[in-house]
Amino acid sequence: MLAGPTAVGKGTVSAYVRDHFPQVWLSVSATTRTPRPGEVDGVQYVFLSQDEFDDMVRRGEFLEHAVVHGQASYGTPREPVERARAEGLLPLLEIDLQGARQVREAMPDAHLVFLAPPDMDELVRRLVGRGTEDEAERTRRLRTAETEMAAIEEFDSVIVNDDVRRAAEELVHLMQTDAH
Ligand code: 5GP
Repeated sequence: MLAGPTAVGKGTVSAYVRDHFPQVWLSVSATTRTPRPGEVDGVQYVFLSQDEFDDMVRRGEFLEHAVVHGQASYGTPREPVERARAEGLLPLLEIDLQGARQVREAMPDAHLVFLAPPDMDELVRRLVGRGTEDEAERTRRLRTAETEMAAIEEFDSVIVNDDVRRAAEELVHLMQTDAH
């Protein structure tokens, strides 16, 4: 499972893994946040209303769920992860620190990988550079990023995202090593 601060490139590394390593199955999270331009329902996320999300929580359909950046709810639907495992695929979950802690409880054998930026300045550059958040949202996300960076020691492995392909290959290598 892959966690790490905002704008570190979790989405890019996960998409690279999904597109290049057929043995890995990338979980599609549910969220209540508004889709960004170009995001497609069911691909990057399943976009739900708060009521729909809360119903899934009540029915126990999430492996983990959390309110991220104090803004929107995000969760990993449980059933597809179990199905992927049963099919012998390696599930990859891209989640935040709170979710990682819940998965640690629910699945003690899960391998927690922290994707780290080469340095904090680079993280700020990426967040500003992608231009998808306004300043208040960027400030909120950077605050969460500092908390997440402080929790780096809770993870089984750390990968520095200096190059997407290299980081993706290292991630798959760790997942494969762990599965045996
Ligand atoms: P974004 O809104 O930029 O797509 O994602 C914001 C944050 O939510 C990221 O840190 C991402 O890892 C986290 N996130 C995405 N999906 C999930 C999920 O299913 N569960 C949890 N706990 N966090 C998630």
